[in-house]
Amino acid sequence: MQATKPNPIATNRLTAQEILAKLIAFPVLGGQSNSKIADWIENYLIEHGIFFHNVYNAERTKRCIHCRIGPSVDNGVVLSGHTDVVPVEGQDWHTDPFEMIEKEGKLYGRGTCDMKGFIACCLACLPEMIAADLKKPIYFAFSYDEEIGCWSGHALAKDIMDTYSEKPRFAIIGEPSEMEVVTGQKGMGTLETTLTSRGAHSSKIYTEASTIFEAAKLVGWLENKMEELIVNGEKDTRFTPPHTTLHVGKFNGGIAHNIVADKCTIVWDLRTLPKDDSTAIVNEFKAYCAKRAAIMRKKVPEFNITNKEWFPLVVPLDTPDDAPVVKFVQQLTDSMIINAVSFASEAGQFAAEGFEAVICGPGSIEQAHRANEFIEVEQLEKGVLFVQKLITKLS
Ligand SMILES: [Zn+2]
Repeated sequence: MQATKPNPIATNRLTAQEILAKLIAFPVLGGQSNSKIADWIENYLIEHGIFFHNVYNAERTKRCIHCRIGPSVDNGVVLSGHTDVVPVEGQDWHTDPFEMIEKEGKLYGRGTCDMKGFIACCLACLPEMIAADLKKPIYFAFSYDEEIGCWSGHALAKDIMDTYSEKPRFAIIGEPSEMEVVTGQKGMGTLETTLTSRGAHSSKIYTEASTIFEAAKLVGWLENKMEELIVNGEKDTRFTPPHTTLHVGKFNGGIAHNIVADKCTIVWDLRTLPKDDSTAIVNEFKAYCAKRAAIMRKKVPEFNITNKEWFPLVVPLDTPDDAPVVKFVQQLTDSMIINAVSFASEAGQFAAEGFEAVICGPGSIEQAHRANEFIEVEQLEKGVLFVQKLITKLS
């Protein structure tokens, strides 16, 4: 889609707070179609005469949006955010999570801090970007399905590199960091391991293959692997904890006390330090699964273990503290603090595509994913100021 030229008479100047209220009203959970919120953002861009591009999922039910404001010259800056949010089910919300409510300097609603607040700051500053005489361009990059495993971040980052003839340089991912620079982030992966065998009377267990017994061995392997990494592996004190973690979150199997379980599933995740290789850990686990399956098949030929990755392994972020992007962003925030975080985001995916990437956005991760999520009005204002300073710096 495309609009022609920047429209100088676009008059519907909305504040970041007004835009955020609009965005919160789209209850787009990770995994769901984001087409309605994408429509709204695209209409806003069209009203301001901004040409944009989409990156679709295979079924064309979801799309990323990216666009350039300013000239086609190298070394521009990407501002990135995701349009989806996490569910509210089972949480004790005091207000409608999808209607933004202001109370005592705080804006409540699902996605206010994670991370529609940052998108609102970007969009609110669009008229200023257009009016400014930008010498280097600013790009918007809005993704989908971030909250269920950063599904679109890699394709979005790649498409930006492929679409424009010039080469952007910096990427700022506006995840909530209270406007402090984040240069390090753990990698992440989630796997579902399914063991299948045949049911039998429990008295025959010695000649049968219980999927629960075998799943317990796999769980033990994962816990031992983490212990081994804590003792012998990499340490990175930027993170809490300063080591790679492996964790089993679900264990389901069996139907009765006297039946050998023919099916058991475990769901587990790993959060890896930038220096640890998540693929190597997963491959080692798979090799152990293959070894156990071969042993069990001697008793029960149909015994099997399969591993399904819930999403591609999310790459970590490891931007050096002395990288130019760090100093650049620090000048926009007036904060010299450099942090690392253990949550996943698309920053590593942008870095993998050749951007110098950091996380920096309004709001606190403390409020993310919780009931009564909020962003302080002051944080939203800081976010706007940040984008305004960026405009000045690039003009
Ligand atoms: Zn987020």
